[in-house]
This record gives sequence, C-alpha cells and structure tokens, in this order.
Amino acid sequence: MKKISMNPIAELDGDEMTRILWQMIKEELLLPFVDLRTEYYDLGLPNRDKTDDQVTIEAANAISRLQVGVKCATITPNQQRVEEYGLKDMWKSPNATIRAMLDGTVFRAPIVTKTIKPYIPNWKNPITIARHAYGDIYKAVEYRVPGPGKAELVFTGEDGRETYRQTVFDFTSPGILQGQHNRDDSICHFARNCFSYALNTKQDLWFSTKDTISKQYDQTFKMIFQDIFDREYKTQFESAGISYFYTLIDDAVARAVRSEGGFIWALKNYDGDVMSDMVSTAFGSLAMMTSVLVSPSGCYEFEAAHGTITRHYYAYREGKETSSNPIATIFAWTGALRQRGLLDGNTPLYRFANLLETVCIETVDSGVMTKDLAVLAGPNHTYVNSLNFLQAIRQNLTTALETSSEDLWGNS
Ligand code: NAP
Ligand code: MG
Repeated sequence: MKKISMNPIAELDGDEMTRILWQMIKEELLLPFVDLRTEYYDLGLPNRDKTDDQVTIEAANAISRLQVGVKCATITPNQQRVEEYGLKDMWKSPNATIRAMLDGTVFRAPIVTKTIKPYIPNWKNPITIARHAYGDIYKAVEYRVPGPGKAELVFTGEDGRETYRQTVFDFTSPGILQGQHNRDDSICHFARNCFSYALNTKQDLWFSTKDTISKQYDQTFKMIFQDIFDREYKTQFESAGISYFYTLIDDAVARAVRSEGGFIWALKNYDGDVMSDMVSTAFGSLAMMTSVLVSPSGCYEFEAAHGTITRHYYAYREGKETSSNPIATIFAWTGALRQRGLLDGNTPLYRFANLLETVCIETVDSGVMTKDLAVLAGPNHTYVNSLNFLQAIRQNLTTALETSSEDLWGNS
C-alpha cells in the first residue's frame, strides 16, 4: 500500500515514559502507513534546559504557523526535578507557556470503549469539558483580615479618578477577604473558541455559571456568550443541526448526570478544574482522556491529558516490563492528523486518523489491553505490555487497511 502524504505539523517531544511511547507509536502505527512530515521540537527537559526554554517558544510559534501541533507529555519541574536533572532554572510549565502564547482554550474529552463502563451507566457518549483557563480565583488577591474594620472594593481610572467604591463588609472580628477579576476580551476569546469547537466537532454546547447570585461577574460571562452566539454563530449552529444552551450551574450538573453525554460543557475556570476531574474519573481512566488546545485564530494543539507516567518510567529504566497505556497519546496524533487532513482537504489522512482510532477501541473491546484498563475491565482480566499492545493495534490496523483501502483513497 502506498503511504499517505501530508503537509507538516509541529511535533513536540516530551519526557519519561511518554517519550518512550511516543517513539513506539511512530514506529508501529504511523511511519509504516503515513509519509509523516513534522517540524520536530524536543521539549524533553534536558533540551529545554539546554536552550533556556527557547525551544518551547519556538514550538508554540511553529503551532501558530502550521496551525496544527501534537505534544507529548512533559515534566513541569519542581525542586526535586531541578536536582534530579541538574537544571539551570525551575522552568515554567510548557503547557502554560504555550497556552499563554496561543491564548487558547483546553477541551478535554474521554475516549469511550464498551469494555470500560462509566461509573454513570447512562453516559454513552463522551462529555467534553471546556475550561476557561484565565482569571477568577487563579488570579485573585486575598488576605486575612486582622480584626474590626471596613473592607471596600475601589476602582481608580487611568486618569486617577476614583470611579467606584463599594463596601464589601464591615468586619467586627477577624476574617478573610478576596478580590477576583476577569477581562471581557478573554471571555470573548473563550466564547468563540467554544462555539468554533462545537461547530468543528458537531456537538451541542452547554454553558453554565451562577449568574443568579453573581449579578455582574457571572452575568457578564452569560451576556457575552449570548451576544457572540446571536451575532456570529446562530445561523451556523442551525445549519449544523446543533444547539447552544445556557443554564445555571446547579441545573447543568443535574442534567449532565441524567444525560447520555455527547456534548461540550463550557465552564468558568474553577468549575472547569473541578468538573474535569469528576468527568474524567466517572468515565473510568485518566489514561483514556484526550486534551486539545484551541486558539482564537484556529490553531490546534493535541495531547494526552495524563503526565509522563514517572512511576512506570523508573521501572522501565530498571529493565522491568511496563504496561503503560498509549491510547491517549495515539489519539493526540490522530487528532492532529485529522485536523491536518481537514484543513488541507486531505481525505486519506483524515480517514486514516479515524480508522486508527476505531481500531484502538476495537482492540480494547476484543480483550487486548494494558494493565490500567484490565483492572477496570473486571477481576482477573489479562493484560499485555505497551509494545505488545501497540503491535496488536498495528496488526488490526493492517487488516482494516487491507479491507478498506479503497474507502481510504476514495476509489470505491
Ligand atoms: P501521571 O504521569 O499522569 O501519572 C499518575 C499515575 O496515573 C501513574 O503513576 C499511573 O498510575 C497512572 N497513569 C497515568 N497515565 C497512564 C497511562 N497512560 N497508562 C497507565 N497508567 C497511567 O501524573 P504524575 O505522576 O502526577 O506526573 C508525572 C509528571 O508528569 C510530572 O513531572 C508532571 O509535571 C508531569 N505532567 C505533565 C502533564 C502534561 O505534560 N500535560 C500533565 C500532568 C503531569 P499507576 O502508577 O498506579 O500505574
Ligand atoms: Mg483539577
């Protein structure tokens, strides 16, 4: 079979066990079938240190230029890592750097198989969480109030004139105080990212806040979303047959639990932080969660939601066999290839990405899986190591391609 050709994407290599899996995935599942073209950036911690983290900035620029990137999990250094790797500095999280440069929104979605049953039995389709990754308590100022006194919220304009002064509370005893903010332009970007992603993936979009209580702050989120939807997306949503739906967060939680899944749930920063852990756990496994960063200019960066699986890597380094799950990292690659295919009208590439995803899920459902999934699949379920798992997928992919190669190339 001739290999599928493609335009380049940005490839961001990473650390530890996922770096090992990265190489295996390319060798077993991509290079035999695709004439893989990537601009390679080594975001492994040693190279980030060597380049004073410039490689992360170059990689983010490459994603902007090529519009599509795929990223391996990377270590976010802490003090222990500074010592372990003898680092010059405690470099910032690459994800934070890239997210700030692309000004994007992160969408997280579980990979659903028949074998792994969600804890909520009626959840048949993935629920994608879109978290606004700016402001609120993550950029709040706060302190302890020492004793009696008046706490006020004051705004002074650029011209030095005090425009607003409001009493927060008249304290008669010690307590606590916090000031939060957000920006209209950041909320607008978030809204557009969510509407575009919903259109791109043909899923309904939900958005929820606590606007009945927070009549300025949360109300602003609600109004901006509604305004942008009405002016820019309403007709597109209608022709795509999808809907936008705003409701109070309490109501959204109740509806989500009763739903069958299959929608995108946009949430403010804190709500998204909490709900994404709830949703990923309820769907079964962090190793089965994908993550995509979407920028307002339409750039996509795909990755697995999990980290570098350090514990497995240390075992691997000692020569022990590991059964790390490569599925979320495979789906990062298929996400990137599919998006490249979509942008370029490259149908074989697009179809190959879809086929590889289907084959991964079918392989698990046929009973071949890694240890993390075997534990969830039921008592005494057998498992294979990472390489054998990838080889089983390769075998199934080869068979699937032989039977469907005409569909892939569109000659049927
Ligand atoms: P982690 O790498 O996600 O692993 C935590 C545990 O979850 C593992 O020890 C393993 O459990 C299980 N697990 C996660 N992914 C798995 C997979 N694909 N297959 C099988 N089991 C899997 O989180 P961490 O240990 O907290 O963090 C390790 C490093 O990753 C840190 O340096 C952190 O900075 C980095 N990190 C990077 C990203 C990113 O680049 N996006 C995200 C998060 C963390 P068992 O040990 O029980 O088998
Ligand atoms: Mg969280």
